[in-house]
Amino acid sequence: MDITLSRRQLIAGLAAGSVTACVTNPDTGESQFLLVNDGQLAKMASSAWVDAKKQTPVSRDPKMNARLNGVGNKIARAANRQNQSWEYVVFDSDQKNAFVMPGGKVGFYKGMMDFTQNDDQLAAIMGHETGHVTGRHAAARYSTQIAAGAGLAAANVALSQTDTRYRNEIAAVLGAGVTFGVILPFSRKHELQADKLGADYMYRAGYDTRQSVRLWERMAAENTGSRKPEFLSTHPNPETRVRELDAYIRAKGYV
Ligand SMILES: [Zn+2]
Repeated sequence: MDITLSRRQLIAGLAAGSVTACVTNPDTGESQFLLVNDGQLAKMASSAWVDAKKQTPVSRDPKMNARLNGVGNKIARAANRQNQSWEYVVFDSDQKNAFVMPGGKVGFYKGMMDFTQNDDQLAAIMGHETGHVTGRHAAARYSTQIAAGAGLAAANVALSQTDTRYRNEIAAVLGAGVTFGVILPFSRKHELQADKLGADYMYRAGYDTRQSVRLWERMAAENTGSRKPEFLSTHPNPETRVRELDAYIRAKGYV
């Protein structure tokens, strides 16, 4: 599929069967409906990522950056994605949140780093974000939206890469509407899959997977107060996640 594929070409291609929409994801074994590949998505996300780094102060704290990069690299290797060009950025903000954009751009807020009690808990979040990448969740959401007719104008412009009018919409569809100051949630199914893939990567990288359960328990406890962490507003149902993740790591024999 060419990068400059227009809406009309896309629809014609789908009708003729010349656009391959269903592909098997080697990381999950699932068949997915995808109209874009990882490279195309990475191109689309690049301007939103540049915006994010302009709009939110980036922390140069050497200790924090070294910690994030260290954990990030170990998780990337465990996910067999060490050859991808990852970029790990600490945002100097008290928000308890983190996100990943296509192309391996990871934004990690200082508030979330401070919340983690150890590298295992940091690895749990990094594993989760990496799970969104290997699960191709942004591509799946984007493809669904194109197919549903939503954001078609944005899709056309995005694929042409010459017009930045729709970059907010594009960023939102990709899973990180950073220019709105919000990070849109993936579906519950994608969130739970990212948790499980994340636990696999933690285990392979030598981290204690019980700390992923601990992290979500602590998040759930924070949720009862008036100050709800941002990560929860974009990653719903902490109690469900704790239960599913706990069952998963036991079934896998990780603990
Ligand atoms: Zn997520």
